[in-house]
Amino acid sequence: MTEWVSVFPDHYSAWRGIVNQALQRQEASIDGGCPVCGGGPLLMAFTIDGPARRVAPGERIAGRGRRWEWCESCRAFDYDRESLVPEWAAAVTVPESLGLRDPSEAARLLAEKLKEQ
Ligand SMILES: [Zn+2]
Repeated sequence: MTEWVSVFPDHYSAWRGIVNQALQRQEASIDGGCPVCGGGPLLMAFTIDGPARRVAPGERIAGRGRRWEWCESCRAFDYDRESLVPEWAAAVTVPESLGLRDPSEAARLLAEKLKEQ
């Protein structure tokens, strides 16, 4: 199994752009969108650590937590350890993982959760 690799600076702004657009569309899966390898899909998983402290009016937030983003093909990833978890992300919100920065545990939990549905 290939190692997880942080998104390199060369690809970082493209990666963030693609992920942020997907978040705005309320989608946690992006087909073929990986700026690192040209493949994909890019997937996301969230975990909730507690209630959100600051929520903008009208924002539908389930809590404060963490977000993992990764490419299934090349295993590039990014991680946000202090993130607002939107309500729409319930389908891809996993039970609290071991606190790993890389998505190995989050990806496993997400696969389990999707299998149960
Ligand atoms: Zn990739």
